[in-house]
Amino acid sequence: MIDGAVRQGLYIDGGWQEASGTTTLPVVDPTTEAEIAQVAAGTSADLDRAVAAAKAAFPAFAATPVAERQAMLERIHALILDRAEPLARVLTQEMGATITHARTAHVPLAAAHVRVAADLLADYPFLTMQGSTAIVREPIGVCALITPWNWPLYQITAKVAPALAAGCTVVLKPSELSPLSALLFARIVHDAGVPAGVFNLVNGTGPEIGAAMAAHPDVDMISITGSNRAGVLVAQAAAPTVKRVTQELGGKSPNILLPDADFARVVPLGVMTAFRNVGQSCSAPTRMIVPRARLAEVETLARETAATIVVGDPANETTMLGPIANAAQYARVQAMIAAGIAEGATLLCGGPGRPDGHERGYFVRPTIFSDVATAMRIAQEEIFGPVLAILPYDDVDEAVAIANDTVFGLGGHVQGTDLARAVARRIRTGQVHINHPAWDPHAPFGGYKRSGNGREYGVFGLEEFLETKAILGFA
Ligand code: NAD
Repeated sequence: MIDGAVRQGLYIDGGWQEASGTTTLPVVDPTTEAEIAQVAAGTSADLDRAVAAAKAAFPAFAATPVAERQAMLERIHALILDRAEPLARVLTQEMGATITHARTAHVPLAAAHVRVAADLLADYPFLTMQGSTAIVREPIGVCALITPWNWPLYQITAKVAPALAAGCTVVLKPSELSPLSALLFARIVHDAGVPAGVFNLVNGTGPEIGAAMAAHPDVDMISITGSNRAGVLVAQAAAPTVKRVTQELGGKSPNILLPDADFARVVPLGVMTAFRNVGQSCSAPTRMIVPRARLAEVETLARETAATIVVGDPANETTMLGPIANAAQYARVQAMIAAGIAEGATLLCGGPGRPDGHERGYFVRPTIFSDVATAMRIAQEEIFGPVLAILPYDDVDEAVAIANDTVFGLGGHVQGTDLARAVARRIRTGQVHINHPAWDPHAPFGGYKRSGNGREYGVFGLEEFLETKAILGFA
């Protein structure tokens, strides 16, 4: 599936290139813990070549007719759908997404970002008039894009598609833990006929390539999705060159169940949404905030839901949760489960170690804690695993206070009828979902507080990659 050419790891100036160093990055299948590939790691010299190619390609690409960029994105979209099955399989191998989830979510939602970017170009106003002044929106330039391993392809298209739509040229560095889907994506971009230098891929580690991207004088903008720690380091490294920095970072998203919610529906949905992608989603609703008088009812429904979850081989179509994506994350999830027990939260189900029958692979037990206090680590720190905290409240003001008692502000959920919209307005997060609505790929996504700066998806995502120019006396 991953042949010799893509194993080189670098796609620069329209072709696959050898890395200038000899370091390779091992890719480990989290189901078997076996190494499945070695990908060449780029060096800072390789990054310089990629940035130079992007810089050289920028003037011509920025000037392409919008319809041409739209047609190019249409071709990328079609190729993602054509190659959906190999993409899904590689995601299962490199980060443990179940094949069913990869087919129904990772790949089609990744394609949706490309579709949205193409559609926006049909009528996006790159020039508007304000009296006699023209307001022109121009591509910002060379963009460095850093992506994580939890939704590898999805995070890539969420950045690459709007950047190309805007007329920017890019250098992508995917997570060193999930580089294979990015290699397949680079091949799609190539086959879609994207001009040389417009899209470049350099594999490598965060501290080496990611940091060099952030500091690079010829990079005009850096966009990172990843941990809070990496986001801060990127902003610090980027500061001396005053480039634009956008950050999509961590979360600890609240899910308030109001007394008039349909508990039989929203408790199971809340558990399953928190555990989706094995809990490895930045906006996972990991804090279920429930009326104290209904705590026992919620606990029963939550425990019953967890009991239905099938954990196992992600290649099996009936598996609901595969393994955690990598060894370091597995260790973190285990440490946080231990912390919850040590802090005195009530363990409703799950707990430390692997589920029965699993000796190997980074499998964890879907775990639910109840009677969690907001000061506990499991209520404050991002766990990024199938670990749900249930926190009781006495009145709605307290529920809102608990929801906002976090350094993060990415996602939020409210379940209920009469008060739901008013409560949604009081939650300080970039998105709030009421009663588990359908996904909206046009809805802006991003964080308040330490969850980041900037917005992705839809027109807001496109505008991150644009500069604003005012031309006075234009009319
Ligand atoms: P991570 O921060 O370890 O890595 C993310 C990316 O940043 C990787 O490509 C990595 O190589 C790079 N990186 C690491 N250190 C760097 C440095 N010093 N300079 C530049 N780049 C560096 O995060 P992860 O473990 O891959 O991903 C999980 C995290 O991502 C979670 O915290 C999660 O909440 C967050 N996340 C956020 C969103 C969002 O949209 N807000 C979406 C998905 C994941």
